[in-house]
Amino acid sequence: MRRIICMALLCCLLVLPVCAAGEESYLALTFDDGPSGRFTSRLLDGLAEREVHATFFLCGYRVEQYPELTARIAREGHEIGTHGYAHKFFSALSAKDVCCDLEKAQRCIEDAGGGQPTLLRPPGGIYDSKVLQQSVCADLPVVLWSVDPEDWRRSDSGAVAADIIREAKNGDVILLHDMSDSSVDAALRVIDELTAQGFRFVTVSELAALSGTQLQGGQVYHRFSFAKNDSISKREAETEPCTKPGFPPPLPRSASFIARQSPRRSPSRVPMAY
Ligand code: ZN
Repeated sequence: MRRIICMALLCCLLVLPVCAAGEESYLALTFDDGPSGRFTSRLLDGLAEREVHATFFLCGYRVEQYPELTARIAREGHEIGTHGYAHKFFSALSAKDVCCDLEKAQRCIEDAGGGQPTLLRPPGGIYDSKVLQQSVCADLPVVLWSVDPEDWRRSDSGAVAADIIREAKNGDVILLHDMSDSSVDAALRVIDELTAQGFRFVTVSELAALSGTQLQGGQVYHRFSFAKNDSISKREAETEPCTKPGFPPPLPRSASFIARQSPRRSPSRVPMAY
């Protein structure tokens, strides 16, 4: 009898990790407005220590100031999206100025060694039809967020972390900014706590791929659903076809980065030229 009980316990021990692996939940941490000369390095150190990859939506004018941080973000396997060049709200710009801002940001990121941005997050999360049109032409899916602790206006890292930990669920995209010590502290605390709860942190493109979502330019994503029949929040672009080839030519991304990303392919990865 004792032998049977021992065998049963052994079977449970062997099976449990498989069950746990099948029930893993995934989250994407995203950081806007950087890179920051004061805060991004410490964040990158903390992410590396925890072997976590995040997604950075970089501002072109800051990339110009901190090209070495931009290169480091890419080199360490994080995903880079564009947050535009000047952090102007696109709703206040003409279509031509939106195009110019995105082109300039893209060129800055590539020149700094950050590779080609894979995603677009418009400043303030504000978009309209002209932004979606650029998103189609540049094949840059618009990625917003589903958890926003408003870290940019709070200095209590514990409160920011607590809000995220309470709200986060499988498939969520979490908005933070690598622009203060409290935001960095909150991010690292969230990783430690939610990892202990069984969550895994991945980049936005990885989260999309894990959920079976094919990211597409011209669509807006807030989170990714892992439940069947649960519609993903997205919006189709209402645009004219892209007719003009743009610039600059794509730069090759590092092999390790490409290997970690979803196999999204497009012949055109540039804002529409005017
Ligand atoms: Zn921003």
